[in-house]
Amino acid sequence: MAEIYNIVIIGSGPAGLTAALYAARANLRPLVIAGLTPGGQLMQTTEVENYPGFPEGILGPELMLKMTKQAERFGAKIVNETVADVSLAARPFRIKTDRNEYDAKTVVVATGAEANWLNLPNEQRLRGKGVSACATCDGFFFKGKEVAVVGGGDSAMEEALFLSKFATKVTILHRSDQFRASKIMLGRVQANPKIALMTNVEVVDVLGVEKVEGLKLRSTASNSETTFKTDGLFLAIGRTPASEVFKGKLDLDAKGYGVITGGHTGTNIEGVFWAGDVADPRYRQAVTAAGEGCRAAIDAERFLAERGEIHEEVTA
Ligand code: NDP
Repeated sequence: MAEIYNIVIIGSGPAGLTAALYAARANLRPLVIAGLTPGGQLMQTTEVENYPGFPEGILGPELMLKMTKQAERFGAKIVNETVADVSLAARPFRIKTDRNEYDAKTVVVATGAEANWLNLPNEQRLRGKGVSACATCDGFFFKGKEVAVVGGGDSAMEEALFLSKFATKVTILHRSDQFRASKIMLGRVQANPKIALMTNVEVVDVLGVEKVEGLKLRSTASNSETTFKTDGLFLAIGRTPASEVFKGKLDLDAKGYGVITGGHTGTNIEGVFWAGDVADPRYRQAVTAAGEGCRAAIDAERFLAERGEIHEEVTA
């Protein structure tokens, strides 16, 4: 007979691994399905300086290795599999991966989100060497330098305002002259003497060998190409939550973000909980994701306790 897990956590970034840590310490013997990128988005970053507890900073992959070890130390089981389908209509829930099927009394969805990229020829090669999709993470490295931000929404404005605290000059590059950004955010940008707006322009490529040295731009009005000197390129062209597999099964908003129901971490299905960036278009930080993983695990534990299902031996 198949084992029924007390809690299956889908995703292994800060949200998933913190949920695993808390669930494991509550004796729930969680199963973590690590997904396509075990460790999540931080595996692709270099120095993380804003995660509390590491005054000298820590490398993203090292932080995730520590979180993995900490969850495993208390008995979390982590499998390197990817979820292909979920049946959430009745309990126990069933999760199908590329290799196995698992039954679960509760599920925490911590699948994360991915920044959208422009898919420029040299964009990924220079990622971490001047190309970034997170000003909060990397802005500090641009003290005294010039940077460009791509996008015309609130994120682009917010990133530019944040970067203006470090950089000597920030140029927002936008493909049209119509901004999706709210008037208040656009107004703040326009009032900031360090920020310039360049409209009707597309980035064609990033220039530089070891680090970003400039951009190749194309005017959307005249189609002519120019070279733009800059030390950094920040992308703020939206994010895509990894929620495809839950479409039609859990409530998602128009952009695919999980909709939190009931004020805590609940989804529209009792016993299934959200944690981290998959349900967070706003904060998107490792530390907030970790906090939400903790909340989701506590909510799952309480859900089981209220039903007298806690600390049962796994059976079927
Ligand atoms: P948006 O979808 O609002 O904006 C994305 C921007 O990126 C648009 O200007 C879009 O251009 C541009 N873009 C998209 N694809 C490309 C591409 N391939 N090449 C060039 N440009 C591209 O996303 P945001 O992340 O800015 O915001 C998401 C949500 O979060 C919004 O609801 C926003 O209000 C909210 N938010 C609120 C904040 C706040 O209140 N402080 C801060 C940050 C976000 P185009 O307009 O031409 O399509």
